[in-house]
Amino acid sequence: MSSFLERSLTPQKIRDFIGQHDILNNLKIFIQAAKKRKEALDHILFHGPPGLGKTTLAHIVANELSVNITVTSGSVLDKPGDLAGLLIHLKINDVIFIDEIHRLSPTVEEYLYSAMENYKIDIIIDSGSNAKSVQIDLSPFTLIGATTRSGLLTAPMRSRFGINFRLSYYKKNYNDIVNRSARLLNTPITEEASYEIANRSRGTPRIANALLRRIRDFAQIKGNGTIDINICNLGLQALHVDKHGLDEMDNRILSYIINYFKGGPVGINTIATAVSENSDTIEEVYEPFLIQEGYLIRTPRGRKVTELAYQHIKRNSKKK
Ligand code: ADP
Repeated sequence: MSSFLERSLTPQKIRDFIGQHDILNNLKIFIQAAKKRKEALDHILFHGPPGLGKTTLAHIVANELSVNITVTSGSVLDKPGDLAGLLIHLKINDVIFIDEIHRLSPTVEEYLYSAMENYKIDIIIDSGSNAKSVQIDLSPFTLIGATTRSGLLTAPMRSRFGINFRLSYYKKNYNDIVNRSARLLNTPITEEASYEIANRSRGTPRIANALLRRIRDFAQIKGNGTIDINICNLGLQALHVDKHGLDEMDNRILSYIINYFKGGPVGINTIATAVSENSDTIEEVYEPFLIQEGYLIRTPRGRKVTELAYQHIKRNSKKK
């Protein structure tokens, strides 16, 4: 999901990246130390819900180190040979970014181990009875892995990352991201409106930027180009984002558990079928936010809504 517009809003350097201060402060030290020693930075794992900046940070690390970055994803690396092809082209201290690293197949994952540990890989040359395995030295490199599901990573994989950061939903000064994006899009926005967009975008910069772009359309067509609170509310209503930042799918999930399962517990697959959404998407995108905001809890027998969810759904249905 990286449209031209999204990329144009993406911070390129640490100083442009807003929030996640603990991570940035640590990263700065690790980057400086690696540069001073002229060594490859240790392998880094970023985990957390989608849209919080894992890919952005991987690019920032490479920019700050002044090295090249090769980008791939766990879901496209089918065979060890696919990975070998990328690794042998890395230059000294380069970065390779593997998104969705939990999707690597076990054989590719095992292949990665010795590359990560000793910068060596075995490749098979020739075929049939002539086939033989030769070991190749790689340039020292940094692997940056990103995952929305750290629970699915194997323990040996996880232990090979010297640096492990969890990104959390944005809270404090989050409207700075909205203001920065509005500035880059040359769109005037009032303070009240930037707070409103920030409050209603699930603490997720990707969502904040997407809402901002849509509301900018409303401002240009229904208003005078400036995003003020009235335009903002008009746009958010049209986009079905409610006062608490829950979107249509969040509300469907909660209503379904309340109306058909007396509040739960109910299994994730049953919920997924009912709301016509993939169960992975529910687990990766919707559930973490609903849990964090106190609408949903996980139990050994499935998901249950909380009292807050009952109040929320009741309030929303009264408004209709
Ligand atoms: P992830 O890899 O975690 O799914 P991305 O790195 O793709 O998330 O981030 C999604 C978008 O959100 C990026 O294109 C970027 O424009 C924006 N973004 C993420 N984090 C920040 C931030 N801290 N400050 C400003 N924009 C951000």
